[in-house]
Amino acid sequence: MAMRPGNEPPADSFERLIRELERLPGIGRRSAERIAYHLLSASSEEAMALAVAIRDVKKNLHPCADCGDLTEAEHCAICSDGARDPSVLCVVEWPREVRAIEKSGVFRGRYHVLMGRISPINGVEPEDLRIGELLTRARAGEVKEVVLACSPTVEGDATASFLTGQLRGLPSPVKVTRLARGLPEGSDLSFAQAGTIGEALKGRRETP
Ligand SMILES: [Zn+2]
Repeated sequence: MAMRPGNEPPADSFERLIRELERLPGIGRRSAERIAYHLLSASSEEAMALAVAIRDVKKNLHPCADCGDLTEAEHCAICSDGARDPSVLCVVEWPREVRAIEKSGVFRGRYHVLMGRISPINGVEPEDLRIGELLTRARAGEVKEVVLACSPTVEGDATASFLTGQLRGLPSPVKVTRLARGLPEGSDLSFAQAGTIGEALKGRRETP
């Protein structure tokens, strides 16, 4: 199949599908072609099931009114679960990290999703994150401890330091803890093994 110059969408729908697949994480040109040929030979029902699943996820999922995790209801299953401890909040960068921590089975509190981390180089400032919402929740009185589970990266550390300062400045400060060391550095929390995340949670310490 001939490559087309420039970035304009190819008129050829098969090439367009390959280009779209190639944009997915971890999918190179060869994998994209393999998937495209698979979808081409699959039944219409099978291929459309994938298209419909993508459409439904984009249409139905939105941030939970409390924690910001993605849900189809107004409040996510964790925030609605009366058995979860409302006095401990675990702060993560992305919804995928909620899933990673849940897999460890260690945490019984609730979450707060920032939707990123402070990164001036990428134009992400504190006001672009759900920090105001976090402070509102921490101020409401029910929260006794905030666990900062920011990614083990330079930007994650900077975000955690900023949040510590903000939380300490509240009229009735809450206990602020951070995960124990031991998570693979420079990666996203969701890449760590569930067991490693569980140990880091159990070993969490109050921030200095
Ligand atoms: Zn929620």
